[in-house]
Amino acid sequence: MAATRAGRATTTRLGGALPVVAIVGRPNVGKSTLFNRVVGHRTAIVEDRARTTRDRLYGDAEWNGRRFVVVDTGGLELDPDDPIEARVQEQARLAIAEADVIVFVVDAASGLTPSDSEAADLLRRATAPVIVAVNKADNEKRELEGMEFYAFGWEDTYAISAAHGRGTGDLLDAIVWALPPESDQEVARKEREAQAEAWADEVAAGRLEPYIAEGPEGAAGEDGDGLADDEALGLEEAEAAKWDAAIAADSERSPAAIAFVGRPNVGKSSLLNALLGEDRSIVSEIPGTTRDAIDTRLAWGRSEVVLIDTAGIRRRGKVASGPAAERYSTLRALSALSRADVAVLVIDAVEGLTSQDAHVAGYAVEEGKGLVVAVNKWDLVADKTDRTFDQYTEWIRNEVPFLDFAPIVSISAKTGQRVGRVLELAIDIWAERRKRVATGELNRVLLAATERTPPPPVRGKRPKLFYATQAAVAPPTFVFFASDASAVHFSYRRYLENRLRETFGFDGTPIRLVFRDRASVKLPRRRKARAASSPAKSTRRTSAARTRRPS
Ligand code: GDP
Ligand code: GDP
Repeated sequence: MAATRAGRATTTRLGGALPVVAIVGRPNVGKSTLFNRVVGHRTAIVEDRARTTRDRLYGDAEWNGRRFVVVDTGGLELDPDDPIEARVQEQARLAIAEADVIVFVVDAASGLTPSDSEAADLLRRATAPVIVAVNKADNEKRELEGMEFYAFGWEDTYAISAAHGRGTGDLLDAIVWALPPESDQEVARKEREAQAEAWADEVAAGRLEPYIAEGPEGAAGEDGDGLADDEALGLEEAEAAKWDAAIAADSERSPAAIAFVGRPNVGKSSLLNALLGEDRSIVSEIPGTTRDAIDTRLAWGRSEVVLIDTAGIRRRGKVASGPAAERYSTLRALSALSRADVAVLVIDAVEGLTSQDAHVAGYAVEEGKGLVVAVNKWDLVADKTDRTFDQYTEWIRNEVPFLDFAPIVSISAKTGQRVGRVLELAIDIWAERRKRVATGELNRVLLAATERTPPPPVRGKRPKLFYATQAAVAPPTFVFFASDASAVHFSYRRYLENRLRETFGFDGTPIRLVFRDRASVKLPRRRKARAASSPAKSTRRTSAARTRRPS
């Protein structure tokens, strides 16, 4: 089968990687303050996500409609025993090798130091644009003092105060201006998100009518007068058919994109070789967007998959190991991840999972990517019993509880044991990530869940969940409309997520739960029915204010 597919080799450009913006500079100039200010300008549906790691080094940012990954290189695990100069130079080299835009942060309060100059010397060799952020320019006096940094010769030099937000808008404008052009895939993604947003807004405002399940007070159908059964069934069928068609079309266009990530020497390129072995033919190599990224399209069973940045995996495989190589592989992985549907986090069975692994996995989760944990070099684990794998799994689950949705598989790239399973899992997860749940079905589950355990009261008032609807796929995103969305406790959100997973699966993919206040506007059909039976209630509901997110 692989051979016949090889016949129609394709050279589709995949693209879609988010550009990487690296923040460099010596310690204490305000890199992480700037990072925190830049990250997090996201729209509501995207924003309401689990924060997986406290000290985040990578994050998605959005400004003027452009999205990019921001990396605080100062937070990468540089050797704290190295002198400051060496650490700053290391960051600069890293940024030069992998970033699309470099933000060089200096400190107006302390003035120009020798390690700033050394970093500047290195950064002059960068082909990526360099933007100088003269931080701590909290007032005009400081701003004037900061002028000395113009001596470095970069036209794009901005006096900012990361702590107070002074000048950061202009800096962000400059960053966005310097980014490489937007890919078609990125444009399409933004369109999808905007549609999901608009739709959820419409539903919330009562202008669009979601199918509401029949139910008693306080759950999915407070109104209690759901649609007639066959009417509802017809709606659901139509809804399902529409989605099925859209999903089928989507998979034709873009097969599962899979990124292998993990530290150097864990066996990524060995795994790649095992998968690309003799009897599997590579359909084509596709140039990616980052630097020299090459993606490989591969026939696998009845599916096709795209392995992201296979050149990078090979290249990094040959680079010496050690902390430096590790940091390069991290930046590269971020870029690969932004283009992937599913990440395969490869870890070394003997060495286990490191904090760097957890960071990369955390980024994948926040970005809503599917995830498989592949424990490689299983052949090296001594004295295995039938409990060994379970113990191993338990240990990983304890170390990184936020990965509890991800399947774990033990493999050996050397012997070939279970390597195919990795792709099978990834393909399954890709499908789970695109799965749609019909609104009626969803609300039946919501109803059962809220009946079993109602949301705990907050400030003496119990929030009510009215209904839910799936606003987006990849990752599956559910919008819950509630009487007081902000009062739905985190643990209750977790409870609802577990109920959804129990019923609908979504194995291996993060899912997002967004809570919105329900609008005061009521649906015409229900208003009539309700007005007759319980006018008091409608008045109360009409007065419920809907808090709009700030735009
Ligand atoms: P990093 O080591 O480069 O990541 O620096 P941090 O972001 O941790 O900041 C170092 C110190 O500088 C912290 O005490 C910050 O509060 C402070 N700082 C950061 N930005 C500003 C600023 O714009 N103005 C002033 N006055 N202090 C700042
Ligand atoms: P990468 O840097 O993650 O691409 O790692 P490589 O694929 O280059 O592998 C690093 C080293 O681990 C090489 O010496 C491989 O031969 C070895 N290796 C990879 N997979 C396995 C495995 O499953 N078992 C054993 N015993 N060694 C492996």
